Parts: sequence; C-alpha cells; structure tokens
Amino acid sequence: MNIQDAIKSANKRLKQNNIKSFLLDSEILMSKTLNKDRKYILLNEKIILNKCEFNNYKNLIDQRSKGKPIAYLLGKKFFWKDEFDINDDVLIPRPDTELIVEQTLKFSKHKSKLKVLDIGVGSGCILLSILKEKKDFLGTGIDIDEKTLKVCKINAFKLGLSKRVKFFKSDIDNFTFGKYDLIISNPPYINKIDLKYLDRDVINFEPKMALNGGLEGISEIRKVVKKSSELIKRNGKFILEIAFDQKNKVSKLLKNNGFYINKILKDYAKNDRCVVSTKL
Ligand code: GLN
Repeated sequence: MNIQDAIKSANKRLKQNNIKSFLLDSEILMSKTLNKDRKYILLNEKIILNKCEFNNYKNLIDQRSKGKPIAYLLGKKFFWKDEFDINDDVLIPRPDTELIVEQTLKFSKHKSKLKVLDIGVGSGCILLSILKEKKDFLGTGIDIDEKTLKVCKINAFKLGLSKRVKFFKSDIDNFTFGKYDLIISNPPYINKIDLKYLDRDVINFEPKMALNGGLEGISEIRKVVKKSSELIKRNGKFILEIAFDQKNKVSKLLKNNGFYINKILKDYAKNDRCVVSTKL
C-alpha cells in the first residue's frame, strides 16, 4: 500500500471513531512512522510502505482511534520554547500552563539567583522552562511518583539543566527541605465527581493522580498552599494553577495562610486559571 492510500484509510478509521482532528492526526502519525516531516509525506504520496512501516502505522492508528492522545503516541509535546519528552506517567503539558512561566518572567525580570520549588513537577515543563530562561536560578522539583521523576530527569538532561535542578520523590506533606523565593504548582485540581466529564482522551489516558483533586477539587491545593506558606521566604512569590471555579475558595485559602493575592489571570478560554500571590 502506498502512503496516500494508507492515510486515506486511516482518515476513515479515525473519523468513524469520532477523532475530530483525523486529517491532521493521520498525517502526523505517518510522519512518525517514517521518521520524516509532513512535507515529505505530502510530496511522496506514491511511495510504497514496506510491511514493517505499514504495521507500525496501523498500530499507531489503532491506538489513536481508541482515543490515545497524539502527544503520547509521539512521546513529546512542545511547551513554552522547548519540546519535552513525555509518556503516560505524566500529564501532557497544556498551553494554559505557560501562564505560570509568563508570570514568573514578569515579576523576576531584574531578579537573580532565585530558588524555585515546583510542587508536583510532572514532566518538568514549568520548572525547566523557567530555569532555561533565567540562567542563574536554581530549581527543586518534587513529585510523589517515581516514574514521573524519571521523565523530568530526562528532560532536565536534554535541556542541559541537570546541574541547576534537584528532584525529590516526596509527598508534599513530608517535604521540609529548604526555603524558596518562588514556589510554583499545577496540582491535581479536578473535582473527583467531575472526572468522568473530562474528554475521553484525558480521562482514559492521562494519569488520574495528576488530575484528581478530591472532593471539590481542592484537597491537594489545600495541602500545597499550607505547605508552601512554610517553605516560602517572606515576600516570596507563589504561583498556582487552579480550576475555572476555584477562584474564591483558593483566594480565601491563600489569605488565611498569609498570602497577598497580586492577580488572577484567565486562560485562553477566558477561565480563571492562574493565581499570583506574595507571602507577607
Ligand atoms: N488542566 C487539566 C485538564 O483539565 C487539569 C490539570 C490539573 O488537574 N492540574 O485537563
């Protein structure tokens, strides 16, 4: 079968399985199969796939038709200015989360040597993007999951940041190491009851541990805020991602833990998403 016919039949298959981006996805997965860019694919439609290529492509299309996100199939995702290695042990980096990087760069324009802690570091995309932008900042990332830490260590290495970042396997409750100028976190914040309403690509494939915020979605945020108030220096900044409906509750929580709210930013869908605060 040639490239064009394989893509055509993949389109049909993905469409039948309600994959909205079927045209793009079938081309991207062909690029992945042949390890060539999309331009090559479109210019060489008549080239015949060998058996191994055909089987690999079919396998990728099978997985995509079951809803597995493209980012997991490719094993990478672009975030801020870099491509990050990912696998299904970590949440796929979201463009909305770039708000944390943006806000960090804004407040720290003239600051140097800040110590940064990322609670629930995941793929490392937030912390490592900040460290790449700010050449003398030092990073610490913690995560409860061992497998996740493997991923962020690989990313740190690939970006040449291993020397400026330390990773610890730890639950937030048990972490008491150091004092930080900046704490960032994108904790699990989806209400347990609402998990089932997430897109099937999300709920069937992304780690529930990184999404499930317990009842009201606020259980993990509560722990993160409380602990951050102990780990942060006076006048230190705390930047947190929240769910669309948590602005009031989280503001109250922050105030009760000695934080002043500088601003709450909206994401691309105009939902409240990112809280910037300062420890008084
Ligand atoms: N923004 C993610 C989603 O809704 C959730 C991330 C999180 O819980 N921290 O898909």
